[in-house]
Amino acid sequence: GQLCSLQFQLTQHANEGYLLLCQDITQLEKLQTTQRDFVANVSHEIRTPLTVLIGFLETMRDLPHEALTKEQRKQYEELMHEQAQRMLAIVADLLTLSTLESTEIVEGTQVQLAPIIDKAAVQAQSISRESHEFEFDVDPDLAVVGQMNELSSAVTNLLTNAVRYTPEGGKITIRWSANEHGEAVFSVTDTGLGIEKKDIPRITERFYRVDKSRSRASGGTGLGLAITKHIVIRHNAKLVVDSEINKGSTFRIVFPEEIVVQEKKGDHKRDD
Ligand code: ADP
Repeated sequence: GQLCSLQFQLTQHANEGYLLLCQDITQLEKLQTTQRDFVANVSHEIRTPLTVLIGFLETMRDLPHEALTKEQRKQYEELMHEQAQRMLAIVADLLTLSTLESTEIVEGTQVQLAPIIDKAAVQAQSISRESHEFEFDVDPDLAVVGQMNELSSAVTNLLTNAVRYTPEGGKITIRWSANEHGEAVFSVTDTGLGIEKKDIPRITERFYRVDKSRSRASGGTGLGLAITKHIVIRHNAKLVVDSEINKGSTFRIVFPEEIVVQEKKGDHKRDD
């Protein structure tokens, strides 16, 4: 079994005796540990690119101007730019996470996913020099009630990951349709690296990465799925992951029937 932490507090009440309070602080301690780990992780993630950046800056400052060729100088500048971009991406994702955690869920509007998917696919393709085959099976009349910006981030995160963790020539299949229970399902299937069973429960943790170097090299902050999970929960939806190592993965967002809007094609054009 698991040990639990108890806190006792004894107080004297004006001549009437003593009051002994006993409190289970197991959850509180867990929360404090998670918080401490998070701060340590953030510091580490930001310090790494900053150290590299400072290293390049110092080299350029200390070398006589003519010691570097024009090409070398340009190469250094590009590497420094990359590190600065990485820090910016981390900070932007941290802000997104904190906004998601601290804001109330407001009433949504009807959001068509099809145009969001189109935009996200273009954006995802642009992050990689490798090319992938894309297949779409998207219902243009299917919508959900929710937050457009959040849904757009969730879709973009899943598509970007599919591109990031699928080698050159792999295939990415995107589906958006209602299932037999009336739920709306968005899914991204890739033929990429896949994820081991033991890692699947952890991939939505902040900064958890199966392969740190691949994630960093492709511009990952390690926060994408943590953000996605938050957004999914805010829409009362479920995030389902199926994956097989070296075969590929499917990430699904299943939206509950209550928020699904299915426009019947041509409904509004009928004149009876
Ligand atoms: P990152 O910025 O590292 O991609 P995420 O939170 O988006 O962070 O994902 C966490 C980790 O989950 C990734 O580092 C990667 O190891 C794994 N992962 C996410 N999506 C996929 C995928 N489609 N295929 C294989 N592994 C994935």
